[in-house]
Amino acid sequence: MSYMMIRAGLRSLSVPAKLQLNRMVRTGVDALRNNTLLASQAYINGKWVTAENKATFEVYDPATGDSLAAVPDMTSTETEEAIKAASCAQNGWAKTPLKERSAFLTKMKTLVDENSEMLAEIMTYESGKPIAESRGEVKYGNSFFEWFAEEAKRIRGDAMLHPVKRDSRYMIVRQPVGVSALITPWNFPLAMITRKAGAALAAGCCVVIKPAEDTPLTALAIAKIAEKAKLPAGVFNVVTCSRKNAESVGETLCLSSDVRKLSFTGSTPVGKHLYSLCGSTVKRISLELGGNAPFIVFDSADVDKAVQGAMGCKFRNTGQTCVCANRIFVQSGIYNSFCSKLAEKVKSLKYGHGMDPTNSLGPLINERAVVKVKEHVDDAISRGAALQAGGHLAPEFGPNFFQPTLVTDVAVDALVNREETFGPLAAVTKFETEDEVISMANSVKVGLAGYFYSNNAAQIFRVSEALEFGMIGVNEGVISSELAPFGGVKESGVGREGSMYGIEEYQELKYVNLNF
Ligand code: NAP
Repeated sequence: MSYMMIRAGLRSLSVPAKLQLNRMVRTGVDALRNNTLLASQAYINGKWVTAENKATFEVYDPATGDSLAAVPDMTSTETEEAIKAASCAQNGWAKTPLKERSAFLTKMKTLVDENSEMLAEIMTYESGKPIAESRGEVKYGNSFFEWFAEEAKRIRGDAMLHPVKRDSRYMIVRQPVGVSALITPWNFPLAMITRKAGAALAAGCCVVIKPAEDTPLTALAIAKIAEKAKLPAGVFNVVTCSRKNAESVGETLCLSSDVRKLSFTGSTPVGKHLYSLCGSTVKRISLELGGNAPFIVFDSADVDKAVQGAMGCKFRNTGQTCVCANRIFVQSGIYNSFCSKLAEKVKSLKYGHGMDPTNSLGPLINERAVVKVKEHVDDAISRGAALQAGGHLAPEFGPNFFQPTLVTDVAVDALVNREETFGPLAAVTKFETEDEVISMANSVKVGLAGYFYSNNAAQIFRVSEALEFGMIGVNEGVISSELAPFGGVKESGVGREGSMYGIEEYQELKYVNLNF
């Protein structure tokens, strides 16, 4: 079925069958009426502001299509104002003593804890994420404020004796890079901001954040947290804009010589574009881009553990995570047993509005995402795959819902084995040998996360070294942690976030040669 045919099919769906909503789920603007973290203005230089031309865009609940709020549709004009505000604040923030910077971050962490339920609610309404996962993201996201509050106090340099001169020393200090632009996606609307902003603020960098069109409300809620924490004006800025203005706002951030760093999380094509724009001012850059994770199950694996791992790894956030299993490769000896156990689990998944706590899957973010999943399913089946569960749109729930789906006997050259699906489609391909599966796993241009299940110690060492990915889960399907460096190789990006290394992305090393 062609892209156009799928789109036409989607448009003809009737919407009010649309919701088998649990009674506790409110809809539209009523949904967030009592949420005091809801903001409908952007945050620049410590002030809540509209776009100069008063333009706004609507933010929708992807489960219902209802409008939740309208926020400023900003352009390069307001982006330049935000850069100016951040530049003015930069010197003062860089000189703020480490313990004070740490205390600001600790305050933000405490405020996020105190307001966690409201943050989770905003996230579920604008991203569609099941409420339990939104609560999990608040905790995960906040772990970066906590972690970098601690790391702020540990910023240090080095001093060395001169190798040949008696009265000379070398000193190496770490200084903040400067104003940092942070462009974030919709799939983790809170954690992608805290993972970047936590490190930047700790290092002494002021930030200008551009959140995704689909999820600006979470970003603005964090700005409310920054305001409550009394961060100095200009240190933390959020510029909201619609997809139509994203390119010009992005260009303004990338081409400005006052912005010294870009940290971007999103798709590989957009990342490449921004990478090239940043060349004009030779900016520091971190790119967290797309993945296409292999999930490999060897004959020696504990099958039940592997099935459980695959479920969490594949269906978390309705399959819309950059590290989620995209290509499931299972060795022939346990293939049938793994597939039948996985099919049972997939069929038991309950989906619907994210605010109904009994649902473990929500809608996809938008119509384009639904079209892509459908294309991948149809392509796999047209190349001989067997449909074991799901496979279709779920119009009775709303236009952006897709059934949790399992296809087996998927051809190696199927679309799903070549491209990131970003949806609730588990696609299983059979393999025979270790060499064969490593070559299939490494055959893609990206290299973010990879997973394998094995109980053979020698194989565990061999395979974890052979896989060309930045992060590897061995007998583990969920690997994100504030303690570990997050990032990819090849076309999945540049740089690492979180961990003891994440702060270095926002620091310059300065070498001072001292003579006395
Ligand atoms: P996207 O289209 O690249 O968008 C990401 C961000 O970039 C959004 O804020 C978007 O704004 C903005 N943007 C789009 N075009 C732009 C342009 N020309 N100039 C400046 N900004 C621009 O990605 P997405 O579809 O939202 O997110 C999903 C992708 O992100 C997947 O590929 C996923 O793997 C990846 N991801 C990676 C990680 C990681 O850590 N490696 C984490 C999460 C997601 P609009 O929303 O307004 O278009």
